[in-house]
Amino acid sequence: MKEVEKYWNPVLETLPREKLVELQLKKFKSIFKWAYEHSKFYHQLYAEAGIEPGDIKTFEDIRKIPKIEKSMMRAIQGKEPYPYGDMLAMPLERVTIYHQTSGTTGQPVYQADSWQDWEWWAEAWACLLYAQGYRDYDRLFLPFGYNIFVAFWGAHYGAEKLGCEVVPGGVLNTEARILKMQELRATAMAATPTYVLGMADTARRKLGIDPAKDLQIRRITVAGEAGGSVPATKKRMEEAWGAKVYDHVGATEIGAWSFECRYQSGLHINEALFLVEIEDINSGEVITELGRRGKMVITALDRMAQPCIRFDSKDIIEWSPDKCECGRSFRLLKGGVIGRADDITKVKGVLLAPTSIEEVVRSIPELSDEYEVLVTKKGDLDDITLKVELTPGQQNKIETIRAKLIDQLRVRTNLGYNLEFHEYGTLPRYDVKAKRFKDLRHKE
Ligand SMILES: [Zn+2]
Repeated sequence: MKEVEKYWNPVLETLPREKLVELQLKKFKSIFKWAYEHSKFYHQLYAEAGIEPGDIKTFEDIRKIPKIEKSMMRAIQGKEPYPYGDMLAMPLERVTIYHQTSGTTGQPVYQADSWQDWEWWAEAWACLLYAQGYRDYDRLFLPFGYNIFVAFWGAHYGAEKLGCEVVPGGVLNTEARILKMQELRATAMAATPTYVLGMADTARRKLGIDPAKDLQIRRITVAGEAGGSVPATKKRMEEAWGAKVYDHVGATEIGAWSFECRYQSGLHINEALFLVEIEDINSGEVITELGRRGKMVITALDRMAQPCIRFDSKDIIEWSPDKCECGRSFRLLKGGVIGRADDITKVKGVLLAPTSIEEVVRSIPELSDEYEVLVTKKGDLDDITLKVELTPGQQNKIETIRAKLIDQLRVRTNLGYNLEFHEYGTLPRYDVKAKRFKDLRHKE
């Protein structure tokens, strides 16, 4: 492949590191000034901290700027200008699209975008799809009604911008979507990991279709859940579909900030459009070294209507020591988004990331795709139960699998579990996003 064909934007994606950092600083100053001058919310926040646009000269200065978080956004919404509140940095007349967060962690957050912001969303998506090998000959099937959620709208417009042919597969049920993909010979799909696995299961059981053999999907972009960066889950998806699976992490309040490229060596941050800082969860100190986890503080460098400046996303990440073969200057995160600061809880005094349990369960082929984790309290002690399903015909291996599970869970999570084996097909199935980790300790 010729160099020029490797990148959507060859200049930005291969900028020498020092130029890229220079660009980020320049863009940061500009978005900071914009928010300071046009958004009442930001103006007040920065005025109280005694920081003005002229004070921002270096990355050190940026670290002194107050962060924002979801709870602050929730507190102002419903106020004027209705319904977004005064974080808005443009007159309402310039807002052209409404979206909201899914509300899995509380009341949904409203998000306004102008037409210019919408072009920015499409640009970020076009860049990531191109990096994943999408080209103008691809026919991308989107098996969702996108509704008020931004993710698949972004995929839709980004793919169109790139020149792909987009098939909006909303309204149809799962079986009809699979048949439509087959009929149209769709070559690519974007969905949540839960749905990618669920569709393959439905195809095999209800339609007698083997997606790996009978469909022509060769590329799948997954988003919305951690699975795309959990190796065992990714392997299951790739085998089920005979396709390459690439992770993407984005957020309504932030934008389409990261992607895995064709080389699958980790999650690239689109550093031409976003500035990512990693902070120690307890001390708040900025982490620049490799191999140390912290939470992400992120700025969308070009988002205008509802700016996102130093947003405390609570995503747990760490810088990767690896360089990607693709030649992009954008840095990699090791293992994608490892979890959320809210999810990584202490169980029996041990820090637990639910993705480690996912990795263990999905790496055992005799277990189905479904599992459930329940954390409860017995007296003063935490109790953790893992429910799994054996796939049909594996009953005779139950003791071997039990031993394997106990052993690997101990190694990866440092915890002992109550194991429950359930009959195949009896644990809850989810359509889009799954809730498999249930911490019930605070509710009892
Ligand atoms: Zn790469």
